[in-house]
Amino acid sequence: MNNATILEIDKSAIQHNLTYFKSKLKKDTLILVVIKAFAYGSDAIILANILKKEKVDYLAVAYTEEGVVLRKAGINLPIIVLHPQIQNFKILIQNYLEPNLYTKKTLLQFIDIANSLKLKKYPIHIKFNTGLNRLGFKTSDVSEIIMILKNKNTIALKSVFSHLAASEDLNEKVFTENQITSFKEIKKKFDASTNPNKPIFHLLNTSGIVNYLEAQFDMVRLGIGIYGFANEDKITKKLQNVLCLKSIISQIHILKKGETVGYNRIFKITQLTKIATIPIGHADGVSRQLGNKKSYVTIHNQKAYIIGNVCMDILMVDVTTINCQEGDIVVVFDSQKKIIEMSKTMNTIPYELLTMISQRVNRVLKKNKYI
Ligand SMILES: *Cc1c(COP(=O)(O)O)cnc(C)c1O
Repeated sequence: MNNATILEIDKSAIQHNLTYFKSKLKKDTLILVVIKAFAYGSDAIILANILKKEKVDYLAVAYTEEGVVLRKAGINLPIIVLHPQIQNFKILIQNYLEPNLYTKKTLLQFIDIANSLKLKKYPIHIKFNTGLNRLGFKTSDVSEIIMILKNKNTIALKSVFSHLAASEDLNEKVFTENQITSFKEIKKKFDASTNPNKPIFHLLNTSGIVNYLEAQFDMVRLGIGIYGFANEDKITKKLQNVLCLKSIISQIHILKKGETVGYNRIFKITQLTKIATIPIGHADGVSRQLGNKKSYVTIHNQKAYIIGNVCMDILMVDVTTINCQEGDIVVVFDSQKKIIEMSKTMNTIPYELLTMISQRVNRVLKKNKYI
C-alpha cells in the first residue's frame, strides 16, 4: 500500500449524484448502479455499502470474481454479472450472483447446470445486441429464446436488456433511435409471449439517461454518472465530484542551474529552482504522459507542474514560487474539471483515468468537514 497517497471518496457527492439522476426518472423506474472495475477505480465495497443504504435496486459488475468480493463483504443486493464465463457458473451460483446470458451456448450451459443443481427460479438476464456489436443475442433470436425459456422452473428470466453504442453523441441520434426501436420490438415479443413472468427491461446508461429519457423502460444502468461525470459539461456541472487523489511532499530540494531532475536527466535546471518529491507514480495511476510539464498538482491551491518523467512510485514538481514544506498536502485532482483536463492530456476519457488508479492507493471515505 502507498500510505501517503489516498483516494478520498465523497459519500455526500455520491448521494447528490444519485438524487440528481433519480429526479430525471419516472418514480417507478428502477435503478441499477454499475460498480465494475473497483467501482470505476474507486472502491466497490465502499460504493456498494453506500448504495445499499440508498436503496438502489440492483448492482452490476463485469466479472464473477468482482461479485464474489461484494458477497464476501456482506453485500446482499441483487448483482448482475455482465460478462460471466461458463467456467465460473458454479462459483457464480454459490454466491447467488445473477448472470447475463448473451449467447445460446451460455444460456443452454446455464440451464444444464441449473437443472443438475436442481435450482429453483434462479434469476438470469438476457442481453440483446442492437448495434454495439459487443455482447448479446441477435434481435432475430427472440422467439427461440422465448421457446427455450418456456416452462423452465430452474431459472427465471429477471431482465432483458441491451446497451447503446453512442448515447453521448447526438450526431448519432438516428442510430441510437434505431437501437431503441429494435429494443421496443424485442420487448413487444416478450410481452406477447405466454410466459407469466414479466421481466424488467433496461437499456440506458448514464448518457442514455441524459439524452434519451423516453427510453428508460423499467430500469436504468447508471455508471460514470454516479462518480460525477455525464459526458456533457452542462450536466457534469450539476453533479458533484466524488473522487479526490491526494498525497504529500516527501522531500524538497533547491537546485542550481546546470543540475537535472529525474531519470534520463530530462529536466534541465536553468535557474535556481525549488522542487518537491511526491510519493505517487505511474504505478499508482499517474500516467507518464502527464510528466514533463504536461500536467500539474496543486499545493496550497497553487499549480506545481510535474517536471521530468513520472517515475514508477514518485514524481517531482516545481514549487519554486510556492511557500511549502515537507509533509504538506498535494492534490493531484479534486474536481471533475481537473479530471477531464488530465484525461484530455492523456488522450483518454475520465472512465480510463479513474480506473487506472491502482490498488496500491489507499481508499478512504472523505471526512465530513462539519463533524
Ligand atoms: C459499463 C456499463 C454501463 C454503465 O455505463 P456508463 O456510461 O458508465 O453509465 C451500463 N451498461 C453496461 C452493459 C455496461 O457495460
